[in-house]
Amino acid sequence: MSSSKNKKHGSMKRSKAREESSAQKESSAQKESSAHKESSAHKESGTQEQMSARDIRSVRLLLSAFFALTALVLTLCLTAVSSRPDTLSRPLTEAEIQEITERNSPLTEYILLSPNADFPREDEIRKITIHHMAGNMSLEALGDLFSDRDRRSSASYGIDSAGRVGLYVEEGNRPWTSSSRENDHQAVTIEVANDETGGDWHVSDAAYETLIALCADVCQRNGIPSLTYTGDETGTLTIHKMFNPETECPGPYLESHMADIAEAVNRRLSG
Ligand SMILES: [Zn+2]
Repeated sequence: MSSSKNKKHGSMKRSKAREESSAQKESSAQKESSAHKESSAHKESGTQEQMSARDIRSVRLLLSAFFALTALVLTLCLTAVSSRPDTLSRPLTEAEIQEITERNSPLTEYILLSPNADFPREDEIRKITIHHMAGNMSLEALGDLFSDRDRRSSASYGIDSAGRVGLYVEEGNRPWTSSSRENDHQAVTIEVANDETGGDWHVSDAAYETLIALCADVCQRNGIPSLTYTGDETGTLTIHKMFNPETECPGPYLESHMADIAEAVNRRLSG
């Protein structure tokens, strides 16, 4: 029995040892697993931290870009607003009239400055473009028309049938007249009243004579040596219909006299 007991005892010992060993292994495996989990969790948490750091950097970058863009837009708006004169669409004081006339044509007798313009023009003055009013309008009525922002049109000057000159867009600014942004940035534009409605759209002799005088004055003050009428937009004297096939502006009468007008202006410039 004793040997059997011993055997049993020995067997129990080995069995216990195996159990302990197995328990140790399990424990070790659990620890490892747990450590692995922790390590893995730590790694994930680290990745999350890294991601959130990256996210923050991205958000900061986006915010910086947003604020920079906003600042730029505001600056541009303020520049545009500040470059718009405060003399638009209103009666002017004597001092303002004198100041404005000094930097434009001395032939000017009436001023109502239009908001329909670019301030300032982006090109040098090299050309004159002629238009007609398609009616016998007064300088005041034309001024009211150009003060209407919804009409989005204007001209540098207007000439009524009595031969008086109105100023609507200062020469330093771009009028919205000729259906051509490029042309209007380099042209002084002139609207002439018609004393005939329809037909040849005739203009009065007084308006015609003033047109020649005004063209010569614009050339002299802006260093245009002479006017050339080529019949297309390459000349320095142009008409509205060259830039817009849908208009007959300035009408047959003025169109047929363009070469004569250029010649009369050039005689004054060389005289
Ligand atoms: Zn026109």
